[in-house]
Amino acid sequence: MMEQYTAAKEQHRDALLFFRMGDFFELFFEDAEIASRVLGITLTSRDKGENPIPMAGIPHRNLDTYLQRMIRAGYKVAICDQVQDPRDAKGIVERRVTRVVTPGTLTEDAILDGKESNFLVALVVEKDRAGLARVELSTGRFVVSETPVERLADELARLGPAEVLASDDGLEKRSDIRDLVRESTDAPLTCYPDWVFGREQAYTTLLDHFAVQSLDGFGCDDLELGVRAAGAALHYLRETQKTELAHLRRLDTVRDGTTMELDRGTIAALELVTPSRRSSSKSAAHTLLGVLDATETAMGARLLRGWVLAPLVDLAEIRARSEAVRELHADGERRATIREHLSGVYDIERITARVGTGRANARDLVALGSSAARLPDLASMLAPSRASELVSLRDRLDPLEDIADLVARAIADEPPVHIREGGIIRTGFHEELDEIRSIRDDGQAWLEEYRKTEAERTGIATLKIGYTKVFGYYLEVTHAHKDRVPEDYVRKQTLKNAERYITPELKEYEGKVVSADERARDLEYDLFLGVRSAIGEHIDRLQRVAIALAEFDALASLAEVAAKNRYVFPDLDDSRDLAILDGRHPVLDVTQTHEEFIPNDTILEAERRRFLLITGPNMAGKSTFIRTAALLVLMAQIGSGVPARAARVGVVDRIFTRVGASDELTRGKSTFMVEMDETALILNKATERSLIVLDEVGRGTSTFDGVSIAWAISEYVHNRIGARTLFATHYHQLTDLAEIYPGIVNCHARVHEAGDDVVFLRKIVEGGTDKSYGIHVAQLAGVPRDVVDRAREILDELEEEAGELNRKLRELAGGDAIKKPRTMQLSLFRPITDPAVDVIRNTDPDAIDSETALATLRRLRELVR
Ligand code: ADP
Ligand code: MG
Repeated sequence: MMEQYTAAKEQHRDALLFFRMGDFFELFFEDAEIASRVLGITLTSRDKGENPIPMAGIPHRNLDTYLQRMIRAGYKVAICDQVQDPRDAKGIVERRVTRVVTPGTLTEDAILDGKESNFLVALVVEKDRAGLARVELSTGRFVVSETPVERLADELARLGPAEVLASDDGLEKRSDIRDLVRESTDAPLTCYPDWVFGREQAYTTLLDHFAVQSLDGFGCDDLELGVRAAGAALHYLRETQKTELAHLRRLDTVRDGTTMELDRGTIAALELVTPSRRSSSKSAAHTLLGVLDATETAMGARLLRGWVLAPLVDLAEIRARSEAVRELHADGERRATIREHLSGVYDIERITARVGTGRANARDLVALGSSAARLPDLASMLAPSRASELVSLRDRLDPLEDIADLVARAIADEPPVHIREGGIIRTGFHEELDEIRSIRDDGQAWLEEYRKTEAERTGIATLKIGYTKVFGYYLEVTHAHKDRVPEDYVRKQTLKNAERYITPELKEYEGKVVSADERARDLEYDLFLGVRSAIGEHIDRLQRVAIALAEFDALASLAEVAAKNRYVFPDLDDSRDLAILDGRHPVLDVTQTHEEFIPNDTILEAERRRFLLITGPNMAGKSTFIRTAALLVLMAQIGSGVPARAARVGVVDRIFTRVGASDELTRGKSTFMVEMDETALILNKATERSLIVLDEVGRGTSTFDGVSIAWAISEYVHNRIGARTLFATHYHQLTDLAEIYPGIVNCHARVHEAGDDVVFLRKIVEGGTDKSYGIHVAQLAGVPRDVVDRAREILDELEEEAGELNRKLRELAGGDAIKKPRTMQLSLFRPITDPAVDVIRNTDPDAIDSETALATLRRLRELVR
C-alpha cells in the first residue's frame, strides 16, 4: 500500500496527498506534519519497526471542512481515493488521485464564498501584450480577453483571481510579470509547463473540448494570446479535476472598451468593494457594493459585484438597464413579491457546475428542483414588463418544469449528503427498488419477531440483536445469563460483559436482508447517477436560467436600494455636463450616524465650468464632496439610482481618481512616487469625456514643488484634456487659476467660526478661500499663545511672499490663458423663464385650429428675434 502512496505522491509533489484508508484520509511524512500544524490534528505514526512514518488523518466525511482550511492556508490538495469497491478487491484496494483541489478550481459551496466569483486566471504575455483567460469552474464562465501589459495589474485587481496560472518559462524570462502579479493580487501563482501555453497545443485542447473545428463561433480567433491562455487553463482543469467538464460550454470574448476601465487606485479610493485600510472599524457594509447589495441570491450578488467593478459606457445600454431598474422601482408591491420568490432560489449556477463535474449530491438536486419550482411564478411576474431588459429576461426565463418534475419524482425531500448511503430515491420512482426495499424492511420486522421468540425460548429477557460488519447479525447475551444459552448458538465473540452468538436462522436471514440492503443501495446509487446525468443533458438551459436569474436579482436589488434610500434616477445623455442637486455620499448617507449628512450640488459643464477647484480647511468635507460626484456618476452608469434630489449625467468614458498622500497610507512605494504614477496615468489616458477626481495632488513634496506641479497639472487637464474635473486642494494659491482659465471655477467648503469654535458646515459654495485655518485650529486646541502669535507673524510674511508667487504664476500662465467671461450662470436646473416659452406653455396643440397655429408660430418668431 505504501507503494501505491509513493506512486501517487510522486506525481503530485506540489500538493498535499490525502490518501483514503477506510473511513479516513491519511497524510504521511512531511504532509502529515504540515496538516497537523494547519488543521490542528494529531500527529501519530505508522510504526514500521525502526523507521516510524509520521501520519495524520481526517474522517472522510469531514473532507470539505478540512479542505477549506488547507486551501485557505494556501495549499493544494491531491485526493487519492479508493476507486474500487473494497468488497471487490483482491488484495489491496485500487486507489487513484481523483482530483487535485486548488484555490482556483473549487466547486464546493461549503468552501466558496457565494457572493464572490472564484476565478482561475491564466496568463500569456508576449512583449507588451497580455492574453488572459478567466475560468470559473464553479459556474462554468469562461472568458478570454487581451490587454496591454501596462493595464494588466489593474485588470488582475479588478478580477480578483483565486489563482493565477502562468508558464514557468515565461515567468523566468519576465520577472516584471511575476512582480506585477504579486503586487496586484494575493492569489497564489501556479507555474505550468511552457508547452501547454503553445499555440498548437492550446488550439488542440480547446477544439477538442468544445468538439468544434474552429474557434470562429466564439469570436476570439484574433486574440491569439487570449486563446493560448484559455487552452492552458482548460488543460490545467483537466489535469487537476480529472472529471468531465461538461458545463464549460462556451468561450466568451470580452474586448477592451465595452465597459468602463477602472484602475486599482480608483477602485480602492472610491471604496467600491473593499473599505479603505484607514479605519479598521469599517466593514464591507462601508463600500458602494455594501450599500447597493440587497440581492436575494448568490448569483445576483456575484453579478452585482461585477457590475460595480465594470460600469457601462454605452449610453443606450445604460439607459436600458436603468429603465428596467426604474420599472421595478415604480411598483413596490411587485418588487416585494419578486424578491420574496427570488429568496427561495438556490445557487443554480454553482449546482449546475457540480452537475457538470459529476460532483452534485442529492441535496444539490433537491435545491435545484425547488428553485426550478419557483420559476413559473417568477416568469409570470415578468409577464407585464415594459422595459426591454425585463422583456428579454422574461423570454430567457425557461421555467424548467421538466427538471423540477424529475427531481420531485425521483429524489426524497431530505436526502443524505453522501450519495452511496441510500435514502435518496423516493418511493414510487422505481419499482424494483421499492420491492427490494420492502424485503429489507420486512426483514426488520422478522428480526424483532425472532428476538422475541428466542427470548421466550431461552428465558433470556435481555437478549439483544446487533450487527457488525465483520460477522454480521448476532445475538448478545450478558454473562449473567450465560448458563441459559442453548446448544445451537455458536459463539463468535466475548466482550467484557457479554458474549455474542450466531445461529443458522440468523445467517439465513442475514443473507436475504443484507443483500437486499446492499442491492437497494447500489440500485439507488445507479438511479441517482441516472437522474443526475439526465439533468446534465440540460446544462445549457440551466446556465441560461442562472444568468437570467442573476440579472433579475441584481436589477431588483438596485430598485430596492433606490426605494429604501430615496434615490432619484438621473437623466442620462451624451453631453459633457454633470449636474447633481443635493447629492449625498452613498455610503455616509446610510452609515454615518454621529452627524447628519449635508447634501451638496455639483454642477459641471463642458465649456464654462468643467474644472472645479475646491479649497477649504482640513475636515471640511472636500474629499467627501469630490468622491460623492465620482460615485454618483459611477452609480448612474451601472443603472442605479443616485442619492440626490435631481441629477443629470453626461456619460463618462472613465473615472480617474488620484487621492492624496495623507489619505492613503500604506502602499509600499514612496507615497509621492505613487502619487505621480497615478497622475501620469490620468494625464496620459484621460479624454474630454472622462471624469477626473484629484484629491490633494502635490502634497507629498515641498510646497513650491507641490504648488508648481499642481498648477501645471491643472493647466494641462483644463487646456489639453478638457475632462470634467474636481480638484480638492489645500493650496489656496491655485484659486488664481480660476481667474485665468474660462473652464476653471473656485469652490470652497464653508466653515462657521463661532467664538473659539470652528464649525464645519459641510457646504460647498462658489468662490475661493485664501485663509489658513491651521493656526486657528491650533489656537483652539490650546497651543500656547506665544506659538500661535509667532505662527501668525510668520504666516503674514509668507503670505506676502505668496502674493509674489501668485503674481509670478499668473505671469507664467499668460501664454495659454484665455480671457475669462465674468458672468456665470447656472441654468441647468433653473426653470426657463422666457416669453416665448410661456407662449409654448400656454398653447394646447390639440385645441387650436391651423390658422391660430400659424399666428402663434409667427408670434414665437417675433419673440425669439
Ligand atoms: P477634507 O477632505 O476637507 O479634509 P473630508 O471630506 O475627509 O474632509 O471630511 C471629513 C469628515 O467630515 C468625513 O469623514 C465625514 O464624516 C464628514 N463629512 C464630510 N462631508 C460631509 C457632509 N456633506 N455631511 C456630513 N458629514 C460630512
Ligand atoms: Mg481630504
